[in-house]
Amino acid sequence: MNLQKGRYTLGGVDLESVAERFGSPVYVYDASQIIANYKKLKGAFKGVDVKIKYACKALTNINILRLLREQGSGLDTVSIEEAKIGLKAGFAPDEILFTPNSVSFEEIEEATELGLAINIDELNTLEAFGAKYGNKIPCCIRLNPHIMAGGNTHISVGHIDSKFGISIYQLPHILRIVKHYDLKINGLHMHTGSDILDAEVFLRGANLLYNAAMEFKDLEFLDFGSGFKVKYKEGDVTTDVDDIGKQIAKSFKEFCKEYGRDLELWFEPGKYLVSDAGYLLVKVNVVKQTTSTVFAGVNSGQNHLIRPMLYDAYHHITNLSNPKGNKRIYSVVGYICESDTLGYDRKLNEVRVGDILALHNAGAYGFSMTSNYNSRLRPAEVLIRDGEAHLIRKREVLEDLLANQIDLSAGASQA
Ligand SMILES: *Cc1c(COP(=O)(O)O)cnc(C)c1O
Repeated sequence: MNLQKGRYTLGGVDLESVAERFGSPVYVYDASQIIANYKKLKGAFKGVDVKIKYACKALTNINILRLLREQGSGLDTVSIEEAKIGLKAGFAPDEILFTPNSVSFEEIEEATELGLAINIDELNTLEAFGAKYGNKIPCCIRLNPHIMAGGNTHISVGHIDSKFGISIYQLPHILRIVKHYDLKINGLHMHTGSDILDAEVFLRGANLLYNAAMEFKDLEFLDFGSGFKVKYKEGDVTTDVDDIGKQIAKSFKEFCKEYGRDLELWFEPGKYLVSDAGYLLVKVNVVKQTTSTVFAGVNSGQNHLIRPMLYDAYHHITNLSNPKGNKRIYSVVGYICESDTLGYDRKLNEVRVGDILALHNAGAYGFSMTSNYNSRLRPAEVLIRDGEAHLIRKREVLEDLLANQIDLSAGASQA
């Protein structure tokens, strides 16, 4: 987002005019930022065969998936529905990694029939997969290296109590199953959680994976998951991707030499690719002075952006409509009947009724975590590409809320 001649623009498009044209609230994404993020990450691992599998639960609009496919990305999916959206977006089945947790074996069978790359994170499932497919269909194994990573227990998935992955301590049991069913294990995977800061944590996990990998002869890739920390506010320490890239590339090359073959190195970033490319634009409905603070009440809330309430996440806020206004302190709150504070004690250019506020870092886990709570409609989504704003999802209408409801009284009167 840039401030040019008193107007905020994104990808060359005036942001306030996006809210005027498409209405608010509205999610806006900048294609050029997503592409830049992809290229930066991809370019950080020099000398190794890196594959990026976009973790599409972060933002699942089919146009975003297509955009990343054009860049050469694959997909990481956590449900059969995500995978089917990926297929619709044009990904080949084997470019889609299916990494579910606690799904039925039927869902894994369906994924296998679709030709997806299968990632198994539970021993009984591995055994069932072996019994059904033997060595006919390869699969990847998700290991839990038990590395504590990330600042929030909701998004830290590598710890000892985590439901994700098969414990690295159960490797002997895994190997017994693999041997018994002659399973072809084509990859090993770990994803320790979001917000990993430094190369050291990655390398600790990587070393565990390298050691385990020596026990599997058919490997084609190692998948180090994600957890790249992005900047939410000034002064945030973020993952130094170039530093991680250098160190991991070096250790990976050494591993491949020891393994005897060059493998692919996979990552599955979500946030890193799309977080800073997205903004949620909301309109100020009321400015309410109370005894202790000034509330700016907006036409959105936790139904459209739940990260502040769910993860205590900080989303920077800019008043697009009054860039020259004096700074004052506000609590920006939503219209939902719950406490839904989007930003607490924020210094904003004076906020007036009707102003458009932009919530930053709304690209990842923004729209994809929206709900219809309070029977509110989901916002529209707009993609800015080559200097033009394109509507990529219509705003919901009341009929959408009623579409799947079955009105018993209507049925009774028909009978
Ligand atoms: C959510 C998830 C990711 C992406 O995490 P980010 O923090 O958004 O980069 C990657 N891999 C798996 C298996 C996930 O569940």
